[in-house]
Amino acid sequence: MLKIDDLDKKLYGYHLAKIYGPYNQTYEAREIIVLYYSDKVKRTLSYPKYLMERKLGRLLEQNETVDHIDEASINNNIENLQILSREDNIRKSQSKYGNIDCLVCNKSFKQKYSYSKYCSNKCRYKARELGLH
Ligand SMILES: [Zn+2]
Repeated sequence: MLKIDDLDKKLYGYHLAKIYGPYNQTYEAREIIVLYYSDKVKRTLSYPKYLMERKLGRLLEQNETVDHIDEASINNNIENLQILSREDNIRKSQSKYGNIDCLVCNKSFKQKYSYSKYCSNKCRYKARELGLH
């Protein structure tokens, strides 16, 4: 559980009760944190977004997204995070990587991130079962 400080209170509300996380939901997914306003009311937030909002001391605008500079969505070092507009973020992820063969099923697929090795979540889970990484 993260400790709530004055900046959290300013950004996310004075009635914030606690913050849990960060959690990693699935392999390659962004980490998340959970803000609790009470035992029953909670909100899920992207951890990189939370880190960036704390760094800037303000909430992100509608068109601002947090980009991982090295494309590794698990590397949440603040030095690795930058703000991109939604359009620029989409452009960046579309342009960069080519096709490779899935390590599990051998199908050729377009890489979304430099570290993607599997064509689908199904193959990703299969790889985990097989002990590949
Ligand atoms: Zn596959």
